[in-house]
Amino acid sequence: MNIILLGPPGAGKGTQAQRLVDRYGMRQLSTGDMLRAAVKAQTPVGVQAKSVMDAGGLVSDEIVSALIGDELAAMGDDVGAIFDGYPRTEAQAHSLDAILKEHGRTLDHVIELDVDEDALVERITGRFTCASCGKGYHDTFEQPRQVGVCDRCGGTEFKRRPDDNEQTVRTRMAEYRAKTAPILPVYEARDIVSRVDGMADIDEVTAAIGRILD
Ligand code: AMP
Repeated sequence: MNIILLGPPGAGKGTQAQRLVDRYGMRQLSTGDMLRAAVKAQTPVGVQAKSVMDAGGLVSDEIVSALIGDELAAMGDDVGAIFDGYPRTEAQAHSLDAILKEHGRTLDHVIELDVDEDALVERITGRFTCASCGKGYHDTFEQPRQVGVCDRCGGTEFKRRPDDNEQTVRTRMAEYRAKTAPILPVYEARDIVSRVDGMADIDEVTAAIGRILD
């Protein structure tokens, strides 16, 4: 099974993708995670992408499609793929078709997480993660049980994404509206789009996605 999780920044794509990985043994392909790893490792791609990411713009279609192509090529053909944060433009949607075809895969579902943008700004600007194990937290909605100590691994260092500030978040949302939302009709014409209420409780969102996939 190959699916796309679509929705603006902070809609919960990464959280839900992680749950699908745990439940179905699928593989999460997040271009945002791949780019952040490239920035951290200071690869040529990372060096090129950093300023665009910090400003909330979109990295070039060629770069992200190459990252996805490489990841899919390295994956077993029997492992399902969850595309998280890709495709984000019409050109990327076309590239994904070509890449999937090359690997004999078909796209089964596009799941759109439907969310209220103003609530998203609060969701995103409050989020932080444990620097050791990556567990996610939130200033308002989910603080560690003991202040300053990770519930999962006991780590005491936390980090925030540099692009999770209000101004950059607004730009990322504008990019979503202008360039990503317009690709939905391409998939609607194929009758593979399902909408899920992304403002619901995290477990309810997971259950709704499960009903689409099962
Ligand atoms: P994300 O983690 O999906 O929110 O992505 C973080 C940032 O990485 C975005 O704001 C973009 O700058 C860049 N990025 C991630 N995925 C893509 C993509 N498919 N196309 C272009 N830029 C991307």
